[in-house]
Amino acid sequence: MSVREEFDDWAADGRDKGMEDRHWNTAKYVLARMPVEEGETVLDLGTGSGYAVRALRDTQSAGRAYGLDGSPEMARNATDYTDDSQVGFLVGDFDHLPFADDSIDHVFTMEAFYYANDPHQTLREVARVLRPGGTFFCAVNYYDENVHSHSWQDNIEVEMTRWSADEYREAFRDAGLYVAEQDNIPDRDTEIPDESEFPTDSWDSREDMVERYREFGTLLTVGVAP
Ligand code: SAH
Repeated sequence: MSVREEFDDWAADGRDKGMEDRHWNTAKYVLARMPVEEGETVLDLGTGSGYAVRALRDTQSAGRAYGLDGSPEMARNATDYTDDSQVGFLVGDFDHLPFADDSIDHVFTMEAFYYANDPHQTLREVARVLRPGGTFFCAVNYYDENVHSHSWQDNIEVEMTRWSADEYREAFRDAGLYVAEQDNIPDRDTEIPDESEFPTDSWDSREDMVERYREFGTLLTVGVAP
């Protein structure tokens, strides 16, 4: 199944907003750490509901803010959620970013990068469109160390790339990006039920759920264009 088919369905039944709610728990910290200066141009890859570009405009005074998504329905919903004329949503693929060389100051992506058809090509594209000194904030919950995420591929027909933290750093370097930092951002907002509630439908033990959210959380890798 193509990205378009899979995620058009998600957008149509409101899962764009559901993801926004869940991903915001850690994405808000990633966005707050981006060194966006007033008027700078930002790009969000796999924008979903577009919350990241809205937040970068509202809280960091970004200038032009683009959200790119392979699903026309996601891009359509995202367009409906804002009337900010500086925000623009585009339908496109990570493998061919529709931007000129050195034209973007900062790129963000949350829970989307690993759907890339060719993640190495996507990284080369990010390195190409970033201006020298521009940054790439790449946030994922699906990665090798997060053993609780491994089964997610079973529920989705788009092929997912499961790299380790080391593999992310190596791939960034291969694409010509310096790795400025990498860390795990805990999700402190997802409610974890009392011990007596376990096992739940989704979790065998409270320990596993604590590890998934409070310890592993979101893996953030930050690249800088030379
Ligand atoms: N960033 C949002 C959405 C995550 S879902 C959030 O945090 O909630 C992943 C999104 O990436 C989907 O909207 C999907 O359509 C998009 N996507 C996946 N692979 C893509 C690709 N190769 N090119 C463009 N968009 C892609």
